Amino acid sequence: MPPFDLPEGDPFGAHNLPYGVFSLPGPDSARRVGVRLGDHVLDAGGAAQALDSPYAPLLAQESLNALLAAGRTTWSDVRRALTAWVTVPAHQEAIADLFHPLSSVTLHLPFDVADYVDFYASENHARNVGQIFRPDAEDSLTPNWKHLPIGYHGRSGTVVVSGTDVVRPSGQRKAPTDPAPVFGPSVRLDIEAEVGFVVGRPSAMGTPVPLGDFREHVFGLCLLNDWSARDVQAWEYVPLGPFLGKSFATSVSAWITPLDALDEARTAPPERTHPLLPYLDDSGDAAEPGGYDLRISVAINGHVVSEPPFSTMYWTAAQQLAHMTVNGASLRTGDLYGSGTVSGPTERERGSLLELTWNGRDPLELPDGKRTFLEDGDVVTLSAWAPGPGGVRVGLGEVTGRIVAG
Ligand code: CA
Repeated sequence: MPPFDLPEGDPFGAHNLPYGVFSLPGPDSARRVGVRLGDHVLDAGGAAQALDSPYAPLLAQESLNALLAAGRTTWSDVRRALTAWVTVPAHQEAIADLFHPLSSVTLHLPFDVADYVDFYASENHARNVGQIFRPDAEDSLTPNWKHLPIGYHGRSGTVVVSGTDVVRPSGQRKAPTDPAPVFGPSVRLDIEAEVGFVVGRPSAMGTPVPLGDFREHVFGLCLLNDWSARDVQAWEYVPLGPFLGKSFATSVSAWITPLDALDEARTAPPERTHPLLPYLDDSGDAAEPGGYDLRISVAINGHVVSEPPFSTMYWTAAQQLAHMTVNGASLRTGDLYGSGTVSGPTERERGSLLELTWNGRDPLELPDGKRTFLEDGDVVTLSAWAPGPGGVRVGLGEVTGRIVAG
């Protein structure tokens, strides 16, 4: 049965319509662009063809890249068309056979990831990390933190879709008290609960993207888990930053929520405590708030351990985009950038085990035993919702992954 009579308030109702890529079991296993409605996925390309839509060339594809490249006006037009297809009875009848239960399909990485960048935009997270690793420092933030969104370039080739197993990485580690480094499987494997932003429209090399052009270039967002081997990271990161401690896997949700579905979730970022250079100064943009009110939940083996609030992020996605292009670096369709670990001000709002256990000092008590860092077999799931129209929630697709022995 096509999902046209969803319960009122379904977080994946017609107000949401996130995009993904799926395949059916059996001989016709081609990848197709899909749109989620309730617990079904609509074959969007098939629907466009059935309705003789001009958007069929964008939707009858094996990835979201053609749609991503089309730009803001087309994104909004396609969304309006999809909304009509799933809500207007005459259209519903024509596409009823093109819905598939989510339980019957395989979900794939929905776009070809171009460049991948990860930021460090939560003041709570940065202060916690500073206190853990630099306890004697005068300020838990580094001197640059309030002046620019700190980030690093990651490894796009190991971005994987939700549900992909994560093999415990091996690498070098050396605690300060160890006489020499040793090599072996990480013993401090961690998560970082983040939000990923997906770039659609590219930009020209040499031309920075100003703050106000954020929505022209960014199509939507997803949940992202930046798996982190803390022991590898701690030994390798000075002075050039994260490398092998992070590049082994980054998981993203199978569903990309378009920014157009999140208008009610837009919110002002925290008050700026330092003056910003003009290219980052969003103080005059009260009518265009750059923050998003996303309520994230982190579960280990089904047990919720944290609920990080994205609205507390100091740097917005628009500022991050402006910063990463201010030197003239270009954007490509499919670029992905992570927000940085989302941590709120209280203990149960922290987005990493590093912070939740204070670097292993205070183990978490889970129903299946104590945890400092992840054990083989652990399943980590990030889920989230945002305020939507009329008080209805907008559900974000979950991102989950299971740790397997290396
Ligand atoms: Ca990160």
